[in-house]
Amino acid sequence: MRARRYTGSCLCGATRFSFTGKLDDLYFCHCSQCRKNYGLYGAFAGIVRGTLIMDKADRLQSYKSSKSTTRTFCGACGSPIAWDRKGYERVHVLMGALDGDIRTTGAKHIHLKDKGGYYRICD
Ligand SMILES: [Zn+2]
Ligand SMILES: [Zn+2]
Repeated sequence: MRARRYTGSCLCGATRFSFTGKLDDLYFCHCSQCRKNYGLYGAFAGIVRGTLIMDKADRLQSYKSSKSTTRTFCGACGSPIAWDRKGYERVHVLMGALDGDIRTTGAKHIHLKDKGGYYRICD
């Protein structure tokens, strides 16, 4: 997939971001933290650190979900935006926060041993 500019936003529009790159590091995380945070599983794109630009961030909030992981979300509507772990090369943006019609395949599933028994994976 070619590099292009992506834009993203929260549900209420108070938080906006963008980055230029390729969506080549996609994954679905089934861990218990993601299931609590996102309602089902987490769908992410790994973005090279430094390429993520917060275009509108006055309502952006964050909290530490573990010693090394910070999760950001819109403080006005609660939409999750990204998570960032100390020492990782990439920042992980929520696929659901990206705007427009994103068509891509090849996402991998991780933490399947923590997956909920109430849904099935069909790809
Ligand atoms: Zn919002
Ligand atoms: Zn997870």
